[in-house]
Amino acid sequence: MIAPMNRAKRWLACLLLPAFAAGAAAATFAAVEESFLDYLDAASAVAFLESGMTATFEGRDLSGWQGLAALRRIDLDRGLAEARSADESAVAAMRNTLATLAAEAATPVACSDAARRNLAATDMRAALAECFREHGNRLQFEGAVIDRGTALQLLHVIEEPARRKAVFEAFAPLWAAVNGRNEPDSPYRRMIALAAADARRGRSEVDAAAGAIGSTPAEVERWLVQVLEAWHDASPPQPVEPWDYRYLNSEANRLLDAKIPVESLLATTTRFYRDTGADLGELRVLFDLAPRPDKSPVAYTDFLSRGRILDGTWRRPRARVVGTYETGGLFALNELVHEAGHAVHVSAIHTSPAYMDWPDTLITEAFADVPAWSVHEPAWQRRYLGADAPEAASLRAMFGNVMLDVAWSLFEMRMLRDPASDPNQVWTDITSRYLHIVPHPEVPWWAMRVQLASDPGYMVNYGLGALLTAEIRAATVAAIGPFDTGNGAWYRWSSERLLQFGSERSTRDLLHGLLGRPVRPDALLAQVRRCWPAH
Ligand SMILES: [Zn+2]
Repeated sequence: MIAPMNRAKRWLACLLLPAFAAGAAAATFAAVEESFLDYLDAASAVAFLESGMTATFEGRDLSGWQGLAALRRIDLDRGLAEARSADESAVAAMRNTLATLAAEAATPVACSDAARRNLAATDMRAALAECFREHGNRLQFEGAVIDRGTALQLLHVIEEPARRKAVFEAFAPLWAAVNGRNEPDSPYRRMIALAAADARRGRSEVDAAAGAIGSTPAEVERWLVQVLEAWHDASPPQPVEPWDYRYLNSEANRLLDAKIPVESLLATTTRFYRDTGADLGELRVLFDLAPRPDKSPVAYTDFLSRGRILDGTWRRPRARVVGTYETGGLFALNELVHEAGHAVHVSAIHTSPAYMDWPDTLITEAFADVPAWSVHEPAWQRRYLGADAPEAASLRAMFGNVMLDVAWSLFEMRMLRDPASDPNQVWTDITSRYLHIVPHPEVPWWAMRVQLASDPGYMVNYGLGALLTAEIRAATVAAIGPFDTGNGAWYRWSSERLLQFGSERSTRDLLHGLLGRPVRPDALLAQVRRCWPAH
């Protein structure tokens, strides 16, 4: 993930400030851009302190940064209002960045607010995301409290089917909060109806993702189905229970579990990136990985500060990575390498202030998986873990989860198209048809990902993103050779070709520059075939 979930922007209420505080109007466009960076840095500081890792940052506490952010925003808005039309695309880029920040909930909400009938769409999403925090951080399993990430990890490794089923059933309170008793006006169905109405009025995440690569939602849906059909045709036909699906695909997790203790996650990640030319220490990436109550229920990476020229020299942007790892293992390692992929992306952005942001979500998520997929290559495992799993088993451990992402993408496309559908039935149709999963339409087991509640349509960035990841990995190898066991050229080459531009270049232009043709599903289909060679 790249954005903190449900970050209440209470400090925007501080905007009622004396007018003299705003200072003089920005005289030049360079000054507007400077005040854009100043504001973003203050907003990042607020988000950092709200995340709860520490009480102060660069000498200020939360309220100090909130006040400063509010002041800087007044300066910025005044400057933007006076900006000349010659700076149109830069102004549009800045407004786009600001709109993304403002899209978060304006008032704090709780999970119980999801029962209210009068919530606006943004607050409804925020309330459901809170359910993932309130319930997802407190799942009951065998007399202990575990969080959602730990539960998902356990589904990969627990030997006894009955205990796996118990982990699965530990999600029940979360599912009830999100989907009620699956009634037509359950909290989720009311939320998705609002999202679908928004999608019809403007552009949904699905339209945005398809548009980003010059494609259409219909074509994207065809690709997703094609990928799922390839998995279906290649995998054994025996039906599997939903609590067994991850276990059966994750023999490699169990084979390598002892090689990946929790305390090795960061060191292994750091070593791999150093071998690709990205020294996470030198890039000053901040990792917030220790558990604490009420921590974000989802791993994410965000800017800690933006890049800028200071005293004539470039000071690169800084990233912070938030995640909670109570156990090690391949699943956790893959996720941390993905988050660190976002962090090196942030660090590589080297452009003018107006474009000092991520490109669109689709390519951002796809790029983070370019290094993360290496974790499942036996050659990577031999070098960084000192042991490897058989190739097909190792790839199944990852692509089994990618198939769930593809299935969720399809689920959201269908729910957004027809929000009156029964979500349990839509999910059952997809998972039983393509993944050989035993139908359980009585259980809303689709509700395992926060994004389904907080950002309806977001999953397509992972499902469609997998096509892009496969394409980028193949194009990278063709240009600079293999990088699974390190390649000193990787970071510089990726920076020059994809990352340095920030939000300036569209995904379409970046990919066309890389591939010389439109995106195709073939590279991903080739990876799916590697998962089931002998079947
Ligand atoms: Zn991500």
